Amino acid sequence: MPKFYLTTAIDYSNGDPHLGHALEKVGADCIARYRRLRGDQVHFLMGMDEHSQAVVQAAEQNGQSPQAWVDLMADRFAEYWRRLEVSHDDWIRTTEPRHRAAVTELLARIGRHNPDDLYVGDYEGLYCTGCEEFKQPAQIVDGHCIEHPTLELVRTRERNHFFRLSRYRDTLLDKIQAGDLRVEPAIRRNEIVRLLEDGLQDISVSRHRLSWGIPFPGDPDQTVYVWFDALINYLSATGFPSPGYERLWPADLHVVGKGITRFHCVIWPAMLLAAGEAIPRQVWAHGYVQWEGTKMSKTAGTAVTLGEAIERHGPDALRYFLLREVGFEADGNFSWDRFDERYTADLADGLGNLVSRSLAMIAKYREGVVPGGRDETTLDRAGLEATEAYGKAMDSLDLRGGAEAAWGLVATANLYIQQVAPWKLAKEGREAELDTALAALGRALHRLAVLSGPFIPGKATDIWTALGAPGQPSDAVWDTLATPPTEGLASRRPEALFPKPASV
Ligand SMILES: [Zn+2]
Repeated sequence: MPKFYLTTAIDYSNGDPHLGHALEKVGADCIARYRRLRGDQVHFLMGMDEHSQAVVQAAEQNGQSPQAWVDLMADRFAEYWRRLEVSHDDWIRTTEPRHRAAVTELLARIGRHNPDDLYVGDYEGLYCTGCEEFKQPAQIVDGHCIEHPTLELVRTRERNHFFRLSRYRDTLLDKIQAGDLRVEPAIRRNEIVRLLEDGLQDISVSRHRLSWGIPFPGDPDQTVYVWFDALINYLSATGFPSPGYERLWPADLHVVGKGITRFHCVIWPAMLLAAGEAIPRQVWAHGYVQWEGTKMSKTAGTAVTLGEAIERHGPDALRYFLLREVGFEADGNFSWDRFDERYTADLADGLGNLVSRSLAMIAKYREGVVPGGRDETTLDRAGLEATEAYGKAMDSLDLRGGAEAAWGLVATANLYIQQVAPWKLAKEGREAELDTALAALGRALHRLAVLSGPFIPGKATDIWTALGAPGQPSDAVWDTLATPPTEGLASRRPEALFPKPASV
């Protein structure tokens, strides 16, 4: 089984997660679930970035010690991810001893492999307290950070440790162009290539005497810069530097927001190259969730809480809406109206109605036992085509395309019921044709439970169970989608999968 080590960005512990965080975690979870379905040995990492000054400020404002505060926030985030059925295998926090050990060792390896890559120097520049980094002229618009237009940039001068990032420009360009480091989607790769072509400046990798952070090895007056610290989490979680960490490393996929590609596609691989470690294979940068055209973030203000969005139609519906409508590639809009429309059309009237009608007919005409029938129907052909289109889309991380393929099959199956009219076949006593139709519907439900699983894991399990299939849809082997083994299953009609609230 090939290993697939997948990570998301770790989140600042300075406020509750919002829809933007949820899009990233749910998208990565959808990929993790799909890779498991394809037989990969998936290792899915998420976690918390706990050393920033924003964390210290948030702790102070809440009258807590930084440690008590980050403990509280880690629990809060983890609770949201549990509600959203996110299936991560590990949860790293940058305050953990395993992380501190990895940061110290990576710096030591850079010092051993490339001693000139770390040096002490003075730095003066414009600092964004939102990003916790010095901004380059290209990152400043109208005197403000692109990511934080409401914050003032602060002119700052410090004596710090520096990393000779400039030395890695050509190597990084070569690796990106050769596909050794795949940056996707293409719009983000082009941005990174342009940035590299413009040349790189060395970066400060320490701060003077911050109480909350990892001491810079050999210089107790300095603290490891929070971004340098945070990026190493992906390596810490593999057990680095203990023997055997190469079983997971390098990461197969880093899923991050489009605002932090420079860190993941430039600084992070350069740090690894300097230390003589393998670089990640792929970085996928998703867009932002927008609310009426504005980026959803703490600084921009939130119009809708994640809790409200989960409660609206349940966690599966939110996952589906984020990945199908908002999208995992470019920026996308979230609105209650579109959410309600998608819920009604795709989930309640679409998939929910299909499951309900199909299993009701199998109950009524065949006492719940799914008939066999090897005839290849138009519905089976559509199921095979949908499976192929789904696999193609999901392999290239086109999650919207994957959802479209699965829900295209929902529409075809509902149409098939209307065209074949099993109730007429029953009335006219055409038993063989009725068996064929009900068997085809059983196979369609099997395929849909499996294909929809990465998007709506809870409801997919409900469909699977109602169909009478053993275990979970996530236990299914991809190859069985060619000929779903549904003959003889004892099905039952489920409660409404996606009930329509009175207001919708
Ligand atoms: Zn900023």
